[in-house]
Order: sequence, then structure tokens, then C-alpha cells
Amino acid sequence: TDPAEYIRNAIRSVPDWPSPGVTFRDITPILQDPRSFRVLVDLFVYRYMRQRLDLVAGVDARGFILGSVLAYELNLGFVPVRKKGKLPYQTLAEEYTLEYGNATVEMHTDAVKPGQRVLLIDDLIATGGTMVAAAKLLQRLGANVVEAAAIIDLPELGGSDILKETGLPIYTVCSF
Ligand code: 5GP
Repeated sequence: TDPAEYIRNAIRSVPDWPSPGVTFRDITPILQDPRSFRVLVDLFVYRYMRQRLDLVAGVDARGFILGSVLAYELNLGFVPVRKKGKLPYQTLAEEYTLEYGNATVEMHTDAVKPGQRVLLIDDLIATGGTMVAAAKLLQRLGANVVEAAAIIDLPELGGSDILKETGLPIYTVCSF
């Protein structure tokens, strides 16, 4: 079977979570099953193994799981893009709007050196707000964001289109 289809089939859709009318795409069944976890990681490994990357930046919190495994497999460093108030050293912050209210992502100011080629990774792109904010942080530090990658795209929410408009290449394994 097609690996992307295999991954898509392993995702659990949870109706009415976290609020009524929302269907949450749950990736924990992929992680729990060794075969689908390997299929997923290998998809990303093969895509990026010849890209001469320097770093993988993973978004808090599910982007850490995939991002750190991928960084290890590709022999790259890993840097966390964290939610506000979690990082101990000097930080750079980027605020963005959510459906209700605002959110802020932060990175350590020395996490990336100018010119470094960085892969940005998270589990899912919805409105694209999180990825855009994370990419801005990396670019403010002088990074070359080679691609924004996620397991899942929700194209109806428009995030992947917004990311394309910013000129950032994107890759997702499947969509719902
Ligand atoms: P965005 O900023 O694109 O609107 O939302 C993406 C962020 O919200 C990601 O960090 C992702 O982890 C989280 N997220 C939103 N909806 C879902 C969902 O249905 N499933 C998962 N796994 N994450 C979601």
C-alpha cells in the first residue's frame, strides 16, 4: 500500500473535541504502532536526506515528537519552538491570532545561526497561524526555512494556501 494512505488510515478522528462541531485528528495511533511510526519517520527521512539541512525546528508539542526523531535520523540538531514562557534563556517571540484570542511562540535567540538551512515541522496545519509565526521567528534569526512540513493538512481551513502565499514551500503527508 501507499505509505501516505497507510498513515492517513492510522489517524483517528475524534468528533466534538475539543469543542462541539470540531473533529480532532489524533496522531497518537501512528506513534503507538511501531510499523506506522517507522513508515511516517521514513517518509520524512527519504524526503530530506539529500537536502543538506542544518537543523530541524519542531513546534510545541507534537512537532517535538516527530522533529526530534527526524533530526536524530538525519544527523541534524533539533531546536524547539515553544509556547510562551517555557524557555529559560533569552527569547524571541511571535504573536499570532487564534479563533478566540492570541497565542505566542518563542525560540531561544541563539537557537539558529544566520544562513542555516532549517526544516520546520509540526503535526498539522489548520489555519496556518502557528507555522507562519514559527517560520517568522526562524527568519528573524536569519535562518533559511527550507520547508514547512506536517503530517496532516486541513485544506478547508486555508492554512496551506496562506503558507504558499508567504513563499514558504510546504509538504504534508495527507489531508482531511
Ligand atoms: P493552526 O495554527 O494551523 O490553526 O493550528 C495548528 C496547530 O494546532 C498545530 O500546532 C496542531 O498541533 C494544533 N491542532 C489544531 N487542530 C488539530 C487537530 O485536529 N489535530 C492535531 N493533532 N493538532 C491540531
